Amino acid sequence: MVVQVEQIREGGLTLTQPLAQPFLAEVLADAVREGFSPAAASQLTAKLLRTAGGRVLLEGQTDLSLVAPCKRCATEVRLTVPVHFTLTLVPAPVERDRPAADDDSDGSEAESSGSFELAEADLDVYRGKQIDLDPIVREQVLLSLPMHVVCREDCRGLCGMCGQNLNETACGCESKRVDPRLAVLKDIKLN
Ligand SMILES: [Zn+2]
Ligand SMILES: [Zn+2]
Repeated sequence: MVVQVEQIREGGLTLTQPLAQPFLAEVLADAVREGFSPAAASQLTAKLLRTAGGRVLLEGQTDLSLVAPCKRCATEVRLTVPVHFTLTLVPAPVERDRPAADDDSDGSEAESSGSFELAEADLDVYRGKQIDLDPIVREQVLLSLPMHVVCREDCRGLCGMCGQNLNETACGCESKRVDPRLAVLKDIKLN
C-alpha cells in the first residue's frame, strides 16, 4: 500500500491495511526460520504523523495468526505473533534537476548519500512524495518472528530411536537406550 505524504494532515493519518494471506505467505517464504505460514489474513493499523524536516513518524501494529512446526516434535502449532514497530521515515535527498511533476520513482540510484542515516535502526528512507508500506511491513514481519516455537513448554519431543511422539505415548525405547556418552565410558573402563 502506498501512502501519499500529502494525505497526512495536521493531526496525522490513521489507516488500516488488509494483509492478505497470499501476501503474508510470500513474506514468510523469505524468513530465515522456515516453516511459518499464515493461518489467516490480518490487518495492519498504521499511524502516520508528519514531523520536522519532511520526516514522517510511522507506527504500525498487527497481530499475525500463524502456524509453524514445534521445534521438538514437529506438531503444527498455531500462534499469534504481535508485530509492533515505530519508524522515522526520512525523505531521500531531493533531486533538484527533476521535474516535480512525475508521480513515482524513476528507479534512479544516483544518490546514495541517504543511506548513511540507516545506521540508526529505527530510521528508514522514503523517496518522492509517497511511502510504500509493503516493504516496511515485510521487514517488520520477518523481524517479529519468534526464534523458538514449541507446542508447549514441556514438550517431550520425538523418541530419537523410533520417532514416536513422546507427548502422546511412551514407546519403551527409553529403558533399552544406552546414553552414547555412557557407552564410551564403559569402553574406557574395559580397556
Ligand atoms: Zn512439541
Ligand atoms: Zn522410541
